[in-house]
Amino acid sequence: MGKKKVASIKEKKHLELVASLGCLICQQPAICHHIRNLGDNKGNVGVGKRSSHYHTIPLCRDHHVGSFSIHNTKRQFEAMYGTEAELLHKTLNEIKQLEESNNLFNFYAEEK
Ligand SMILES: [Zn+2]
Ligand SMILES: [Zn+2]
Repeated sequence: MGKKKVASIKEKKHLELVASLGCLICQQPAICHHIRNLGDNKGNVGVGKRSSHYHTIPLCRDHHVGSFSIHNTKRQFEAMYGTEAELLHKTLNEIKQLEESNNLFNFYAEEK
């Protein structure tokens, strides 16, 4: 029952999907920001999954590690755009919608 260090296929799919949403703030191409310390408030982020790979939000480079970003100016960033937990909610909602219109998977598969 060891902890998995590597993302499972399902998790990788999820990460790809998160990144494919584009930056939550500006819609630029995004990478996944892993949210830590969501265990507060009983880890209640509205999802039943505990794996950190599901605690990711898409942010472009600027909003991820730029001069005004979730890493460098987290307090101001959250005041302006919402807390990490709120942004995660938004992300998961968007992914849910994507998954419901499952055609996107086929679309991306055909493009490659
Ligand atoms: Zn951005
Ligand atoms: Zn990050």
